Formats: sequence, structure tokens, C-alpha cells
Amino acid sequence: MANNKIDIFIGDITTLDTDAIVNAANSSLLGGGGVDGAIHRAGGSEILQACKAIRDTEYPNGLATGEAVITTAGRLKANYVIHTVGPIYGNDADPKQSLSACYRNSLLLADSYKCTSIAFPAISTGIYGYPKKEAAEIAYVTVAEVLEKCRYIRNVVFVFHKVEDSLYLKSLLK
Ligand code: ADP
Repeated sequence: MANNKIDIFIGDITTLDTDAIVNAANSSLLGGGGVDGAIHRAGGSEILQACKAIRDTEYPNGLATGEAVITTAGRLKANYVIHTVGPIYGNDADPKQSLSACYRNSLLLADSYKCTSIAFPAISTGIYGYPKKEAAEIAYVTVAEVLEKCRYIRNVVFVFHKVEDSLYLKSLLK
């Protein structure tokens, strides 16, 4: 849609007040390091409780790579956290497809909750080892395409912890 806005934010995703923020979770949904740890620390135990409930009732064997689920955002300014499981690079049959599915499923889930804004971390580019340039291309292409199908989302923010990590995505916005 013509009036959609894609932005870059450098810093900590937990500080944002978008309707939804996305967590690069692992399949256990029980928290971890990196951005996952930061979100659970800043958002408080309510998020972990909600994750455990979803896991126990719907995903006893864990959430599959590329899938996404939504919970409260606890104490965060955002209304929701969307937890998605990125591919472990070198350990996934089709990492491109899996990473794209993370962005697609997270956006569509946020839109189904009538979110107008959403912030993404650079899924899989930390502990999971996805090359940052390729990951940025997949993120951008997928989001641009799926945004066309969204009814409510107007603003997507790509969040990077460091300026140098943001440059690939920045070059795609022009
Ligand atoms: P994964 O396991 O999917 O690779 P990580 O959390 O290890 O997830 O890293 C994903 C990306 O998130 C990395 O590029 C890392 O620099 C970034 N990151 C880590 N903490 C934060 C944070 N608080 N806010 C935004 N991005 C973060």
C-alpha cells in the first residue's frame, strides 16, 4: 500500500512503543539469550507465563522454525510480543524459506490482531549465525511483499543493535 512506512531504528527493541514487537525466540518458547533474553527481562514474567501456556496447550514438542505465536508484552510499551523461531544457519534445509516464513507469519499474525505497527529484530543473525546481508535482503523483500496483503499494518520498523548491522537494510530502502 502506498502509505506504508518502513523505518530503521538503531538500539534496543524493548524500548519501542510499536503495537507489536517480534522476538527471535527458540522452539522451546522458554526464553534464551540475545534479543529473547532482553525481551523477557524487560517485559517481566508475564511473557514467560504466556509462552509456557501456549507451549503446554498447543506446542508440546516446541514451535517449528518459521512459525509465530503472539503473547502479551507484559511491562513493555508494546501491546504484544510475537515470538517466531528463526532457522539455525547451517542446520536448516532451506534457511531462506524459513527466514522468510518468520517475517511473513509474524506480519500476518500482527495484522490479524489489528496492529498498525510492528518492530522486527534481525532474526537469526545473532546466535543462529545467518549472514547479515542475505538476512536483510530476505527481511526486506518479504516484508515489502506481505505488507501489500495487510489490512492494518502501516509501519514496520527494522531494529538493529549496531549501526553497521543496519547498513544492508538501509541500502534497500532507497
Ligand atoms: P538468533 O538466535 O535468532 O540469532 P539473537 O538474539 O542471537 O537471535 O540475535 C538476533 C539479532 O538481534 C542480532 O543481530 C543481535 O545483534 C540483535 N539484538 C540482540 N539484542 C537486541 C536488542 N535488545 N534489541 C534489538 N536487537 C537485538
